[in-house]
Amino acid sequence: MNSKKNLARAERLQQRIDAGHMSAHFPEVSNIVISMTYNQRGIGKALPRIVNFFPDSYALFRITCLSKDCVDGGFDFTHIITAMIGNRRKVAKGELGCEGNGPSPDHSTIAYEVAIQYA
Ligand SMILES: [Zn+2]
Repeated sequence: MNSKKNLARAERLQQRIDAGHMSAHFPEVSNIVISMTYNQRGIGKALPRIVNFFPDSYALFRITCLSKDCVDGGFDFTHIITAMIGNRRKVAKGELGCEGNGPSPDHSTIAYEVAIQYA
């Protein structure tokens, strides 16, 4: 179990290195803010989280799942953000479920708002 987590962590680190910096992929973007409310099943308490991306951030728009029983889970914003930048959209809202192998299929969800500032 523990080595599985470590392996997942090492893979994520490699993905970051492979992804490169945001400025290389999206030079027109100056800032991305993902504001979300994280809901974990069974806890019954919504947790606000805010994640910022800057030009020198890694272009890997994946938010980790906070469930400690979740293996390789997370919320992937790559498609959402890539589509937004393609359309020069500034704000998008929605909901995502965790993609990982957690204790149950819908063990955690987030309600998000993505705000993008263009240079
Ligand atoms: Zn999860």
